[in-house]
Amino acid sequence: MIMMIKSLYKALAGTLYLHSSAGQRQLRQSATILMLHRVLPDEQAAGMPHRQALCIGQQSFDHLLYWLRRHFDCLPLETLLDEPTGKRPRIALTFDDGWRDNALYALPLLQQHGVPASIFLSTDFIGTHQRFWWESIGETLWAYPQSDISQPLRQQLAQLPPPDRLLYADQSHARSLCLASYLQQLKRLTPEQLQSLADLCPEPTQPHAMDWQQVVQLEQSGLIRFGPHGASHAILPRLAQQQLEEDLQRSHRALHHYCVAPLPVYCYPNGDHNASVRDAVARLGYRHALSTAPGLISKDSQPLALPRIDLSHNAARTPSMLAWRLYRGARA
Ligand SMILES: [Zn+2]
Repeated sequence: MIMMIKSLYKALAGTLYLHSSAGQRQLRQSATILMLHRVLPDEQAAGMPHRQALCIGQQSFDHLLYWLRRHFDCLPLETLLDEPTGKRPRIALTFDDGWRDNALYALPLLQQHGVPASIFLSTDFIGTHQRFWWESIGETLWAYPQSDISQPLRQQLAQLPPPDRLLYADQSHARSLCLASYLQQLKRLTPEQLQSLADLCPEPTQPHAMDWQQVVQLEQSGLIRFGPHGASHAILPRLAQQQLEEDLQRSHRALHHYCVAPLPVYCYPNGDHNASVRDAVARLGYRHALSTAPGLISKDSQPLALPRIDLSHNAARTPSMLAWRLYRGARA
């Protein structure tokens, strides 16, 4: 009940902010970069707690695009970075990682609404069967909590065993919440450990990432541009200098090989960066880089540490919750 009242308050405050003259002035004097990851065809599946932070249902995405066009000028990222302010509040959409569903389910709606977007690719994944660990481990435990299929994975997870609640085969909200918090705990493991756990999971029916042919087609649509999001999706500040340079250069080379006009914008995996990461990115010629720190773009923003507003399924379904996030972002 208290949660419901809080949500109602936020939705109302967000709507009031968006329609107030102070809110309009603030949004016109700044710019918003939205951070999305995935669009799924199944609304209910996207809304489950262990998915909803990174996934948006296609119907909610449709609703969101309609709402965004009513309240904002939806611009290509590079246009917004060159000219963040205008007569109407300005917004740009970005997608991280390079999920195949961006091509299958997001693009048709972006085309229908005429909304441009930028997609940031973790280039080692593109055109390969390499899997994103949180998706592989999470969905394997979700679909096969007890079966032989997940046995090798569960065996290797013995040091950090899944809670008993996860091992019941129901599709309940409570179990999904339990999985979401378990996936957070797994972040304690090293990237190598997580990748080898993901490799023990059954092969998904389709690769997680899009392939280069899709990248080329999306760029040809004229609505999508691409930029790098690391090569291996490693957390960049944790890499030794040489590994860091190699990862950045590999992603840079791949984008320049396959894209006609790759964006001069870097997008840090997990949003993590430090001075040596920023210096290395700048040496490769990137003038802007995106973090995951929440906030709006203002004239004081650091070009190599630009904030974004992340967008969950719940916020897309109820855009007044996004207006609340903008309100908070404007106060950050
Ligand atoms: Zn990512």
